[in-house]
Amino acid sequence: MTIINEKFTVNTKGNTDIVDITNNIKNLVYRHSLTNAIVHVYVAGSTVSVTNIEFEPGLLVDLPEALENLAPIEKEYHHDATWHDGNGYAHIRASIIGNSTMVPLIEGALQLGQWQQVVLIDFDNKARIRTVHLIIEY
Ligand code: ZN
Repeated sequence: MTIINEKFTVNTKGNTDIVDITNNIKNLVYRHSLTNAIVHVYVAGSTVSVTNIEFEPGLLVDLPEALENLAPIEKEYHHDATWHDGNGYAHIRASIIGNSTMVPLIEGALQLGQWQQVVLIDFDNKARIRTVHLIIEY
């Protein structure tokens, strides 16, 4: 097995900013002209996630609303009592969603549904620059 490592950065606005990173992934994967591979998408950080969504305006409101029910911004968190950084909600949301996903490459094509995009969600309470790693196994 061979592994190729790629990475790119994403500038976010924080505050549950959802950024479509599908084209970043496609561009970096397709330039290797591989036939079959496993593409792992990983973001470093404890207040940021990578997941899949249909990137359309309704869901871009619905998902943050659902997460607000699970981990409200205004709740008092033990994390904030210790660190006073006000982003306890962001850590909880990132833990729930997770910080990686996998996309198979089969016969030269990434296997994403027509309405399935890969997104980075930055939950932190300020703008950040995030590094996304692609680990391509073939
Ligand atoms: Zn924190």
